[in-house]
This record gives sequence, C-alpha cells and structure tokens, in this order.
Amino acid sequence: MIKTVFRMIIVTSCSGLGLSGLGLSCLSFTSLTVAAEEPVPPPQSWPGGAKAAVSLSYDDALNSQLDYAVKALAEHHLKATFYLTLNSDAYKTRQAEWQALAKAGHELGNHTIHHACRASLANREWVTKEQDLDQWPLAKINAEIRAANQQLQQLDGQTSRTFTPPCGDTQVLDGDYLANVTPLFSGIKVLGPPVTSMSELSGKQLPTWFPVEPTLQQLIDYVEQAATNGTIASITFHGVGGDHLQVDTNIHQQFLAYLAKHPDRFWVDTYQNIRLHLLPQ
Ligand SMILES: [Zn+2]
Repeated sequence: MIKTVFRMIIVTSCSGLGLSGLGLSCLSFTSLTVAAEEPVPPPQSWPGGAKAAVSLSYDDALNSQLDYAVKALAEHHLKATFYLTLNSDAYKTRQAEWQALAKAGHELGNHTIHHACRASLANREWVTKEQDLDQWPLAKINAEIRAANQQLQQLDGQTSRTFTPPCGDTQVLDGDYLANVTPLFSGIKVLGPPVTSMSELSGKQLPTWFPVEPTLQQLIDYVEQAATNGTIASITFHGVGGDHLQVDTNIHQQFLAYLAKHPDRFWVDTYQNIRLHLLPQ
C-alpha cells in the first residue's frame, strides 16, 4: 500500500490582507494533514518502450477499406480494428475478405447490423426510417448488438472484441443504451477530444477522432500529442480514397509510413490488444 499525504496551504496571519473593509475581522486557515491509503496508478508503459499507443480503426465495412486501406496496413505491418456494419453491401458481398483480415491479426469490431443513428440530429437526412435510432427502444438495440457479436464470432471465432456506437449516438427512445451493452465488450470508442493523461480514462471508454479529409500534418500532430502525453491516440477512418468521410489514399499511406518509421514512439495495434495491455497484470 502506498501512503499519499496531502498538505493544504497554511495562512496563520490576517494582518495586511485588507479584510477589515469587507467586514471580516480575521480569517484563519488551519494547517491540515491528511494521511490516506490510496492506490496510485503506475506510470503507463507501452510495449517496446513506445511513448503512445495508437489505435487505427475503420468504420462501416466499406469497399474502399478493403481496396486501399488493407494493402497500406500490410505494407507497413500495422494492425487495426475494422468496425463492421453487418448489413453493408461490402460486408455481405466480400465476407471472405473480412474474415481474412481477422486471420491476418486485425480486429473485427462490432458496429451493429443496421447502423442506426438519430435522425433528429443535424445533417442526418441520410438516416432511413428503419435506421432511426430515435424510434428504437432499448430492447431492440440491445438485441441487435448481441446478434452482431454472434455473427462476428461465427466469422472470426473470437469471444472478446470492442465496439463503436454508430454515429457515436447512444440515446434511444427510452434511454441510453451504452451501459447495457458495456459488459459485452473489452473496450468502447466514443467521440470526443483526446485525453491528456491516462488518469483521465475511466471504465472501458476511449475518445476517438473521426477525421474528414485531414492533412498529413493534422494526423501526425494528433499522434505526436499522444506521444507527448504518454496516452492513446484513437483515429476512426471511414472511406479511404472513396466512399464517405474520406481520407486521401496518399495521405493515409504517408501517415501509416510515418507511424511505422517511429516504433520508438508509437505502438500501433488493435483496440482489443491495447485493452488487453491495460488490464492489471
Ligand atoms: Zn459508422
């Protein structure tokens, strides 16, 4: 056990503080020493002495990911997580290729079956009536996410994986579904700014960035900031040189080359493997 001792500032004199004008004759601050037994988390260390963990992910099971991203990852020997939407055309027509990704060491993450998102939010004209999460009860989304896990297990044989809620939306007709499905996963990605310290991370959630047409420098700055802070950089790509929310193929390629060139700073692996690394040893 480690003893943590807190000391508060001590002010013993009121003279010269000019408090009388405020109707206060005197203030006294008492010294306080509190001894508490609290576990202190060890400083985070990453495999290979890297300064940051990097989780690259690819959402929605898109053709452009199979056509461009997979080759670039293989060329640089990097592993990523593909969050598959199981009713997407590219999933249904190219299942063997997704299965091959798992065999090559990538993670197949859960991104539900129908990719339901809230139609009531801005820029959601593309959300169909069937996909409108605002109209889904908790029971329906819970059942869908469980069913997606079963289908993915049939594909890759894995019993543990991570999850990204489609659009980052978790509010449904009768509540927020995330707490209900959290026990099903080793980790969850949520939209948000990156943490500046590992102590800011709690539970299974990790903030991620959805870059849309990013520059190479923006991508590099994002991972370098994580290296400075000793944290995890999570990037969620969608289309790569095609499809929606694109990143340019050359920029994507150059970014992967940058990561691969600096293994002293970046440990790149699947989100599942990063979560396993974070478990108490
Ligand atoms: Zn998505």
